Amino acid sequence: MAQINPDFAKELKEYGALDFNACYNCGNCTAVCSLSDKDNSFPRKMIRLSVLGLEDELQTSLDPWLCYYCGECSETCPQNTDPGELMMSLRRYLTSKYDWTGLAGKLYTSKVWEFGSIIFLAAVILVLFIFFHGPMTTELTAEGGVKLNTFAPWKQVEIGDWIMAGLLSFFLLSNIFNMYLKIIGRRKEIKIPLKLYFKEFWKVILHFATQLQFSKCNTQISNKKFELSTYWIIHLFLMTSYVIMFILIVVFLGWFQTDNIYAWWHPQRLLGYYATIGLTVGVIYFFISRLKKSQEKTKHTHVTDWTFLVLLFLSTITGILVHIFRIYGMPYPTYYMYVFHLMVLFPMLMIEVPFSKWSHLAYRPFAIYFNNVISAAKKIKK
Ligand code: SF4
Ligand code: SF4
Repeated sequence: MAQINPDFAKELKEYGALDFNACYNCGNCTAVCSLSDKDNSFPRKMIRLSVLGLEDELQTSLDPWLCYYCGECSETCPQNTDPGELMMSLRRYLTSKYDWTGLAGKLYTSKVWEFGSIIFLAAVILVLFIFFHGPMTTELTAEGGVKLNTFAPWKQVEIGDWIMAGLLSFFLLSNIFNMYLKIIGRRKEIKIPLKLYFKEFWKVILHFATQLQFSKCNTQISNKKFELSTYWIIHLFLMTSYVIMFILIVVFLGWFQTDNIYAWWHPQRLLGYYATIGLTVGVIYFFISRLKKSQEKTKHTHVTDWTFLVLLFLSTITGILVHIFRIYGMPYPTYYMYVFHLMVLFPMLMIEVPFSKWSHLAYRPFAIYFNNVISAAKKIKK
């Protein structure tokens, strides 16, 4: 028998949900949502399950991940129930349920945990630098640049990078496996032929790289179309920049953190500039749209959304300053800024990638993949 959690509404409000109990089931949101079809009243089904507190059904559903928050449903709701924001809150809630460590739930629902973890991880980096940094030489390279690798040899930094990347991958992949168990693995009524998992896997890569699900929100209003396309393009620019920067610092650190000063057209600089511009443009765009509350999806901002943007902004700015100080031969500002840069970057990656905002970028493509696998299996059964 289905388990009902009478306190569910209260719990979900901690993840950002508004007053969804006001829903009187009129169906306007389902009528406008492009994801609705005859088998799925999208997003009304999620609203009903949330109102009833049916957690098991919610935790085995992929619907919150298929929604790209176009906001059409929220605009048409006569009760101001804000179904789009409910779907967003459910994504945060599900992230905490997939996470076996329990950290995601704590980070989403407690400011003490959120800010305490950032301070703790930043302090770890500071302590490591206090005890293990190399000489702070004021001698410059032949090209007039700072000898950053004397102060922070890339081989040592790379060891830390690899440990961090291993931890991030372990937590994120084990949480995705947990998601799989909830959605498919532990449900006896779902039988998937093995070959379907392989056949459909390319969709994880496609949707991770393009976030293509956005295009399903096909509003007819031209202003809104432009707004959504802009959002998608900037989101894509930000995400590709984030991924490029992550690969540069984790896989190619020896090539990226060099004391050489290359010409501006060198691939090392061009990739760095692409990622830096993408991160800067993205962060500014999302800051402004959240401050202006100009779109449905930016009307309500959870504290973790701000934290992510602030950490990303600080990581980008400090990275730019390290670059400027280094190539213009300013040793002490380079060294101090480099430490500060890592004090921001490390918590941002450790918290956001496996447990918070960034993990949504991984859960979405997997949700689409699982959804396709389940649909294909149902077709074979018929
Ligand atoms: S439009 Fe609002 S009131 Fe109507 S079903 Fe959707 S959420 Fe409920
Ligand atoms: S935000 Fe858009 S995609 Fe999501 S449920 Fe509402 S109408 Fe559907």
